[in-house]
Amino acid sequence: MSPLLFRSTNGQTPAVNLREAFLAGQAPDRGLYLPEQYPRLTPAEIAQFAELPYREVAFRVLRKFTEGVIPDDALATMCNTAYDFGVPLEVIQRGVYLMRLDQGPTASFKDFASQMMAQMFGRFLQEVGGQVTILTATSGDTGAAVAHAFHEVPGVRVIVLFPIAEVSESQRKLMTTLQQNVRTVAIDGKFDDCQAMVKRAFTDPTLTHIHLSSANSINIGRLLPQSVYYFYAASRLAQSGEPVVFSIPSGNFGDMMGAVVAREMGLPVRKIIASVNDNDSFPRYLASGVYEKISPSRNSVSNAMNVGHPSNLARLVAVYGGQMDETGKIHQQPDLAAMRRDLFSSSITDARTRASLKEFWHKYQILLEPHGVVAWQGFLDWTATEPLGNSPAVIIETANPAKFPEEVEKVVGWAPDVPAAMTAAIALPEDYDRMGADYEQFRAYLLAGHPSS
Ligand SMILES: *Cc1c(COP(=O)(O)O)cnc(C)c1O
Repeated sequence: MSPLLFRSTNGQTPAVNLREAFLAGQAPDRGLYLPEQYPRLTPAEIAQFAELPYREVAFRVLRKFTEGVIPDDALATMCNTAYDFGVPLEVIQRGVYLMRLDQGPTASFKDFASQMMAQMFGRFLQEVGGQVTILTATSGDTGAAVAHAFHEVPGVRVIVLFPIAEVSESQRKLMTTLQQNVRTVAIDGKFDDCQAMVKRAFTDPTLTHIHLSSANSINIGRLLPQSVYYFYAASRLAQSGEPVVFSIPSGNFGDMMGAVVAREMGLPVRKIIASVNDNDSFPRYLASGVYEKISPSRNSVSNAMNVGHPSNLARLVAVYGGQMDETGKIHQQPDLAAMRRDLFSSSITDARTRASLKEFWHKYQILLEPHGVVAWQGFLDWTATEPLGNSPAVIIETANPAKFPEEVEKVVGWAPDVPAAMTAAIALPEDYDRMGADYEQFRAYLLAGHPSS
C-alpha cells in the first residue's frame, strides 16, 4: 500500500508523505499540509468504536494516515504510551454533553496532540538520523504540553520562550520543572516578542545547521490526533449514526479542524460550531465573505484563544475549495454556502464569559473554565437559529478549571481542586533562563548549544 500524500495549501511544492510533512512543519512554499485525499471509515467501523478504549480508537483512526509509513505494531505502542488518561463525557442536559479534554499531564487538550507528536517525532528522527531543536513561544498552555510530551525524547531538544509577566504560576511551573532536554527561557517582554524571536530564528540563515522545528498547530502532526476524540464522542453518544453537533472553543482553529478532518473521513456531523472570544475575524468572514485579520490580537479572559489571524483558516478554506495564503489573503473564495451549511461561528465577549461561568455552575453544578464556557455560549447562540432535535451535542472543554484559579474563584467563590498530575509537577524545583526581548542575545543562546551542555 503506497502511503497517503500531503499537499500544501499554497500548491507550489510537490506532495510529500507523512514523515516529510511532519518533519518540515510548514511546507516550503509557506503553505500548510493537508491530506491529498481523506481516508474513509465506514459506519460499521465507526460503530465499533463505542466498545473500545480511547487508545484503540486512536489507533484505528490514525492508522489510516500512517499506513506505509509507520508499521501497525509501532503505532499501537505509540497510542498506548500517549493515551494513558481518561476522556470523560458528562451529561449537561438531555442530549447535550461536555467532553473534558483536560485529563492529560498538563491538563489541556493540547496534550492529545503533543503526546502523539512526541512519539512520532522520536520515531521519524531515528529513521532519518540527526537532532532537532523544537522552538516554541507560548502564552501558557502550548509550552507546557510540548515540554511534557518531548521531555526525554531522544534526538530532540526543546526550547520554550514565555513572557515572564503573562504566564500564571502553575503554567510556568509546568514548564520550568522538567530539565534534561527541555530548556525554558523567561523573556522580559510580551508574548508577541517571544513569537517574533522564534519566527526570526526559523528564517535566520546563520542557524540552519541547528535544524529548528516546530510543534505548533501549523504542523499536520498536531491536527490528525485531534480528529480522534470527535470519533470517540460520537460513537458513544449517537444512536444509529445520528449526526452530532460539536461546539469548540477556537483560537488558531487547530482543534476545530480536527472535527473537519473527522467529517471528511466519514463521521456524521451535523454542525461544527467554532466559538471564539473578541477575536472575531472568522465569524465576520463567514457572514460577509470578506476576511480581515485582527492585528494586534485582542486580549481576553480565554487567553489561549487570543489569535487575530487563525493559522488554520488556510486549511479550512482549502477544504471548501478555496485558497488563502499565509498572510490571510484570499486568492480563491471557498464555497461559502457550503461553509455556512456545515459551520456556525459566534464571538463571545468577556462579560458574557464571566457571567456564564457563574450561571453554568449554579444551574448544572458543573465547573467550566473560560475557554469551555465560550463553547457553551456559542452553542446557545446556534440553538437560537435552529432546533437541536434528536442530534446529540458535545461541548468541548479544553482545559482544567484549576489552570485558571483566579477567574474561577472570582465567579464561584472557591478555588478549584488541582489535578494530581499538576500537583506533582508543581512541587519540583524550578530552573529557567532569563533574557530581554533581544533577538541577538537569543541567537547567541541558540548557538551556544543550550541546553545540551
Ligand atoms: C490552545 C487552546 C485553545 C484553542 O485551540 P486552537 O486549536 O488554537 O483553536 C482553546 N482552549 C485552550 C485551553 C487552549 O489551550
